[in-house]
Amino acid sequence: MWSATVFTLYPEMFPGPLAHSMAGTALEKRYWTLDTKNIRDHGLGRHRAVDDTPAGGGPGMVLRADVLAASLDAAIEPSDPRPRLLMSPRGVPLTQKMVRAFSKMPGVVIVCGRFEGVDERVIESRTLEEVSIGDYILSGGEIAALTLIDACVRLLPGVMGKDESGHEESFENGLLEYPHYTRPREWEGRTIPDVLNSGNHARIARWRLEQAQKLTRERRPDLWRKVEEP
Ligand code: SAH
Repeated sequence: MWSATVFTLYPEMFPGPLAHSMAGTALEKRYWTLDTKNIRDHGLGRHRAVDDTPAGGGPGMVLRADVLAASLDAAIEPSDPRPRLLMSPRGVPLTQKMVRAFSKMPGVVIVCGRFEGVDERVIESRTLEEVSIGDYILSGGEIAALTLIDACVRLLPGVMGKDESGHEESFENGLLEYPHYTRPREWEGRTIPDVLNSGNHARIARWRLEQAQKLTRERRPDLWRKVEEP
């Protein structure tokens, strides 16, 4: 079973949105499991301190290496085959290709940062792979972890219905997805493109591919370049 173990200072944020809809049903059916570890359980002193001021000065606080390492070591066996990820704006930008790879593994171990970040030494010593969900700053790694887990869980065998099996989706073939329409056939004077009512599956497939290419060219020249010259 695919299992996520999440290290966080806010375990009550989990499963949060992942208790609902597709991921929630899959969680109930035990297609995947979620385990949270409160980093503060290994905090120091009466106040269970987990952070301290940055060496060299500057604003904010830094998550302590000794506290995070103790928390990780208490819960994760050295032989655990799952990748150990640290959600971080400095990380490798998460892509659908990485999501697919993570979903084929036994699961993931995720550390959620807080404050200014995490002491570099624990990142090195516990070989945490930094993963970013985009070029913007969140206040903590929890929403990033939820994002990564959600993207993985929907790809697990049996989680998505056959109809929605995910193969033609945006990014799966390097392109953004074609536009969708449903009933009514005419709405506020706008009609569905004729080809979609033609019943000609080859023409429909060709139209969808052309639309996907056009959208990708217009909206994401960075992706389009990779399609043209892989
Ligand atoms: N000072 C840091 C940002 C800290 S934000 C910097 O400039 O790089 C606090 C925590 O939120 C981070 O440790 C990380 O775990 C999480 N976080 C913020 N933005 C993120 C992003 N884009 N992707 C993944 N995690 C992020």
